[in-house]
Amino acid sequence: MTFLFNSDAGRGAVFADAFARELPDVPFTMDAAAVDPDAVRYLITWTAPEDLARYRSLEILFSIGAGVDQFRFDTVPEQVKIVRTVEEGIVRMMQEYVTLAVLALHRNLPAYLAQQRAGEWSDIAQLQAGSRRLGVLGLGQLGQAVLDRLKPFGFPLAGWSRSPRQIAGVACYHGELGLEEMLAAGDILICLLPLTEDTRGFLNADLLAKLPKGAALVHTGRGPQLDQEALVAALNSGQLLAAMIDVTDPEPLPAGHPFWSHPKIILTPHIASVTQPATAARAVIDNIRRHRAGLDPIGLVDRSRGY
Ligand code: NAP
Repeated sequence: MTFLFNSDAGRGAVFADAFARELPDVPFTMDAAAVDPDAVRYLITWTAPEDLARYRSLEILFSIGAGVDQFRFDTVPEQVKIVRTVEEGIVRMMQEYVTLAVLALHRNLPAYLAQQRAGEWSDIAQLQAGSRRLGVLGLGQLGQAVLDRLKPFGFPLAGWSRSPRQIAGVACYHGELGLEEMLAAGDILICLLPLTEDTRGFLNADLLAKLPKGAALVHTGRGPQLDQEALVAALNSGQLLAAMIDVTDPEPLPAGHPFWSHPKIILTPHIASVTQPATAARAVIDNIRRHRAGLDPIGLVDRSRGY
């Protein structure tokens, strides 16, 4: 029952140590060429290898990241569980990034950076946190963790999901009507939705127009969820004041793309949150233990929902 690690060797070494310590009865390898394919029960990877079908005894396909949109579900045999990585490192980093982004947008950082470049010293009227309403699209592991971390600042908090949720201190919305209501009060909108057929192109001109005038966007979901031209148009018209963007389509963006130089955009290269090998190895090992005990792994993907 071999575990095959198909990612960078640095992270692999940390996984190898953890497996040797915690699950010595599960052979660990990073050598796809040498492994007996019939022995492979568990595979962790970012993209699924083209020859996935050769692992005929595969039980779990782990994504090394928090998303699974890079997999084509129809190429993964029905009996194979698809599991994303939910681990404390990813969660903590996303909390840090979104807090950074929200505070930067709340405190007008893009405008002050533009002023600095222009040699201009003047203050911008500052809303207090209690008057800046935050709306989070997606109330999953990351959306909820981010809301939790933002609580002490005193922003009015709201969130939106597919199914109804109840979270203390957060106005929770769901479904289409709920979305309209949340958008209308979204001074800073944060996207933490998974990429599915339903969310592709979701952040479009129509949605941006439903935000209060002068709103801001934090995008840490996936690039194809955002209509990039619509964002530039909304920023240029003043409908949106600023945006902090971590994910784009494509990645990296081509030279000359307006996001590189737009004064109202802070752009980062998909670094909001990165799988941390020590905590990820622990989470994967726990999931193998759960699976062997007949329990569902944490982060098990529902193929019909796409996340
Ligand atoms: P998750 O636990 O699966 O949560 C997803 C949330 O989105 C759930 O609340 C779900 O609603 C909601 N949702 C999904 N489809 C929806 C729809 N069509 N309409 C309304 N709500 C919908 O995922 P997560 O762990 O929080 O991660 C979210 C995403 O963050 C990942 O998929 C990935 O794309 C992104 N991410 C980005 C980075 C980065 O560095 N930029 C790093 C890690 C992750 P229900 O509650 O009703 O199911």
